[in-house]
Amino acid sequence: MSLVVVGSVAYDGVETPHGKAERILGGACTYISLAASYFTHVKIVGVVGEDFAQEDVGLLASRNIDVSGLERAPGKTFFWQGVYSADMNDRTTLRTDLNVFADFQPKLPEAFKEQPFLMLGNIQPDLQRDVRRQMRAPELVGGDTMNYWIQDFRPQLLAAIREWDFLLINDGEARMLSGETNLKKAARAILALGPRYVVIKRGEYGALLFTPEEHFVAPAYLLDQVFDPTGAGDCFAGGFIGWLAGLGKPRAGVTSADLRRAVIYGSVMGSFCCENFGVDRFRTLTRAEIDARFNEFQGFTRF
Ligand code: AMP
Repeated sequence: MSLVVVGSVAYDGVETPHGKAERILGGACTYISLAASYFTHVKIVGVVGEDFAQEDVGLLASRNIDVSGLERAPGKTFFWQGVYSADMNDRTTLRTDLNVFADFQPKLPEAFKEQPFLMLGNIQPDLQRDVRRQMRAPELVGGDTMNYWIQDFRPQLLAAIREWDFLLINDGEARMLSGETNLKKAARAILALGPRYVVIKRGEYGALLFTPEEHFVAPAYLLDQVFDPTGAGDCFAGGFIGWLAGLGKPRAGVTSADLRRAVIYGSVMGSFCCENFGVDRFRTLTRAEIDARFNEFQGFTRF
């Protein structure tokens, strides 16, 4: 049983107060799948150009990620460049070159269609819908989105979200999507759009989980130093759905306690992501380190 992940596989140019990288492996699909690979088997769907290095495919393969759905197209790999503010809470996008991503038409290999778990990274909502349709009978489907799709592709996004079990979204985008400033009201409005639960990510302030019955509040892990927050939201998503996929339960069997643990594993994976530039932390990270940090969370939130 595997988790299918779709999204961008990219090269990023990143500048934070701690340094600068001209061109490093990135992309939402990359971060989600690396984070999820610690909990479950992952199959990715994406596109890269002729310039995509074998070494980068190698990193994914070293985490046992199935790359048979990673298409190689003529042209260049998607490139994104961003710079962070001094406190790293704000990010300015300097450049987005879609390159081969502009004509991306996700095609799932046969073996992918039978899988029970699906995570739709931030791509055009019609493509998210199309991938959802290619899956035969997924048990758990989640998705992410961003301000651009909320503003300019609203009807398509609403149609996509309606078919998801959960939506992961940051606080600003939750407000934009719902038209509510109050996050509790925003969550309620989003639940009315279709998803069974919604996770609102709040960066260094943690994350909120809402279901129709309850809500759960998780802090973020306090790091000594944040080197590069790029991909933290995607790693949260990877930890969240990866952990749930690893349980292997049917939709109806997922309990409130499972969801709460998934939020904490999401927070744990987001925090590790920030400890080094790009995907570098995943070159050495072990499951033992992940579980140790999960236990630390239990310690500093118990009272
Ligand atoms: P996050 O920091 O979790 O928001 O994710 C950052 C990653 O998203 C980077 O590695 C980028 O390559 C990727 N990314 C940035 N803009 C886009 C976009 N418009 N579509 C798809 N992926 C993007």
